Amino acid sequence: MSQAHRLPSPIINSENKPFWDAAQNNQLTLKFCNSCKELHYYPRTLCPHCGSDDTAWVESKGLGEIYSYTVMRRGVEFPFAMAYVRLDEGISILTHLTNCDFDGIKIGQKVRVVFQETQDGIKTHLFEPLE
Ligand SMILES: [Zn+2]
Repeated sequence: MSQAHRLPSPIINSENKPFWDAAQNNQLTLKFCNSCKELHYYPRTLCPHCGSDDTAWVESKGLGEIYSYTVMRRGVEFPFAMAYVRLDEGISILTHLTNCDFDGIKIGQKVRVVFQETQDGIKTHLFEPLE
């Protein structure tokens, strides 16, 4: 892990603490709005679709596919890949990609969530190709 891009540590606050608590147990969580019945991410107190505060935490299966991606090679110590992953639940999340050949990443590639520690020892979610 030393010869790799250093993952940024999350900024944890009261609004997103349950999300990061779940991540320490290798669980990716989303929020479901009981008012408009929509899922959302990033987790927050008020639903971004309708403004309701009647939201609940739900666990994602952590499966999806790459919607778009970019590989950072210039001006960084080690290359890394970022992607928008479209989860099977139907929403997109911005994430790092890991355990893959950055030259072999493809739009539509199936991925699953994995968890790795940041430099501060806090586990965060990344995605890796399924095959
Ligand atoms: Zn809502």
